Amino acid sequence: MARKRHFGEIDGLAVGQTFTSRKEVAEAELHLPLIAGISGGESEGADSIVMSGGYEDDEDFGDVIIYTGEGGNDPNTKRQVDHQKWDLRNQALRVSESNGLPVRVIRGAQLKSPFAPSEGYRYDGLYFVSRSWSEQGNAGFLICRFELIREDATPPVWPSRSDAQPADPGASPRVRSTIQRIIRNTQIAQDVKEIHEYTCQICGTQIQLDGRLYAEACHIKPLGRPHNGPDVPENILCLCPNCHVRFDRGAFVVSAKLEVRDRVGAEFEGVRIRTNGRHHPDARFFSYHEGLHPQDNRESQS
Ligand SMILES: [Zn+2]
Repeated sequence: MARKRHFGEIDGLAVGQTFTSRKEVAEAELHLPLIAGISGGESEGADSIVMSGGYEDDEDFGDVIIYTGEGGNDPNTKRQVDHQKWDLRNQALRVSESNGLPVRVIRGAQLKSPFAPSEGYRYDGLYFVSRSWSEQGNAGFLICRFELIREDATPPVWPSRSDAQPADPGASPRVRSTIQRIIRNTQIAQDVKEIHEYTCQICGTQIQLDGRLYAEACHIKPLGRPHNGPDVPENILCLCPNCHVRFDRGAFVVSAKLEVRDRVGAEFEGVRIRTNGRHHPDARFFSYHEGLHPQDNRESQS
């Protein structure tokens, strides 16, 4: 049996690193399949994609990729000759969307895009799947489509273009306006969810989605600028989507004694968050979070 699929960065590999062949890309463990564009399992999720011009409907905007799923095309002509289905590796990318798993993106020189490398293959960092849907492709068959958005922390490797790229990669205002809400995840976050068996640490809900248990990893001190919270288990809670959004917006804060202060109702007031011997959230991060959401200033926070 193959080893456990690895999501996220590969130790020792820098964004922007180039490779001469798919074989080299696979040897670096960036993307193991030699032919398939998507690396992933139907139940585990997809850990990487290669964009190399295999699908005529792919669209590349740099920070945002509209990626076509696999299947239904003639391997010689690349033309669609049948519908694509929501199974196998297309389903894997959907699991990555539901679970907020990071997807490594590798662009090949054959890709018809201003963001393609001039030769070989280039590792372009981590993206998140923000949406997926079916639509009719150029050839008239249904294709599976995915919108992937570059992780804020990954600097773009292509030359900056003032009209297309914001100077500050942490800002991304044009991209941001198109995103509803991206669930971010890392191996560490995944581990925390598994410790709690995908049960919400505030309300105790355990939900199923696509036949799998589903929970969200909530960073107590937010990731990214200006907060720069760390991606460590002590800064992560395993929450259901309802509690996650309420915590993020300051409807809930948590005291040093790990008791919920419910700012909008009595339902969770005083509830002690569920803990587990293998996971200890750090009270300092709760204190930082509370500082972001002062009691009397809640409406102006976002
Ligand atoms: Zn909950």
